[in-house]
Amino acid sequence: MRTAVPRVLVIGSAHVEVTLGVPRLPLGGETVSGATLSVACGGRGVNQAVAARRLGAEVRFVGSAGIDRHGDQIADMLHAEGIPTEGLIHTEDAPTGLAVTMVDSAGLKQTAISSGANTRLVPGLARRHDSLMSWARVLLCQIEIPIPTVQWAIATGREHGVLTILDPTPAQWLPDALLSLVDCITPNADEAETLTGVAVDGPGAATVAAQHLLARGVKRVIVTLGEQGALFCDGKSALHFPAFPVQAVDRTGAGNAFNGGLAVGLAAGGTWEQALPLANAAAALTCTKRGGLASSPRRAEVEAFLRSLKR
Ligand code: ADP
Repeated sequence: MRTAVPRVLVIGSAHVEVTLGVPRLPLGGETVSGATLSVACGGRGVNQAVAARRLGAEVRFVGSAGIDRHGDQIADMLHAEGIPTEGLIHTEDAPTGLAVTMVDSAGLKQTAISSGANTRLVPGLARRHDSLMSWARVLLCQIEIPIPTVQWAIATGREHGVLTILDPTPAQWLPDALLSLVDCITPNADEAETLTGVAVDGPGAATVAAQHLLARGVKRVIVTLGEQGALFCDGKSALHFPAFPVQAVDRTGAGNAFNGGLAVGLAAGGTWEQALPLANAAAALTCTKRGGLASSPRRAEVEAFLRSLKR
């Protein structure tokens, strides 16, 4: 893999995530006491930006937050991770996005999201940072911001010769006009099913789903398959990259680390066959620790893990 400093631009969501650990999830109308509280920064955009940064990329993030304490918290976190905060546009129109999750002792979750300022990231606002398109080597987007903004970003990235990756999360149907602009789409099994109608339970079905997406104009498809790894398909070949063996305790954040790793590997000039193991390894390590962003690994950790597998 070439060693040029990988430059990754992420245009996406920013949330503060409030998590209540509860003895059991409340039924409708019920109150459960005895919860533990944790508050963290997140949103798929922020999480993937941080994942890429920890894996060794120079990262720029463009997103929207409110003019409030949560917005400041996200800016402080980006700064601490070494990501410039200029791209976090503070708007007075809406509060910072907020996700509230209750999780019981068995790990079962209920989440509600107030998208807040993320809904204000319209193309006209994101365009303030369009000079980053000539800086970036890889553009990484998700769909927790308005779809017209994602479409503008991917189209503009493409005009500038930037490699574009779209993680279609959270699952929703997407128009061909967007799909046909994308260099690589990275759905998980549920998202692949939402986009294609094909129930994905392994590499075989993932190949069928990938062919549906290729027929709609996407250039490459990577279906992530949890503990079964990932399936890459570009219309010429379908390659299965099995997951790395780990003691998985919590899969939260695996998809974010996967996309961050993929973006970094490609931005460094690596081939798909080189970038996919980096993505798989970063995602596998995320599964060995609890938490979202907290479990997102650093490059040295991933390299040590890959070396340990070769022994
Ligand atoms: P998401 O987190 O977006 O739902 P997946 O569950 O498909 O996506 O997981 C993303 C990636 O995380 C997988 O492609 C794989 O690389 C890695 N992964 C997930 N679960 C495991 C596991 N149990 N062991 C090793 N790697 C895993």
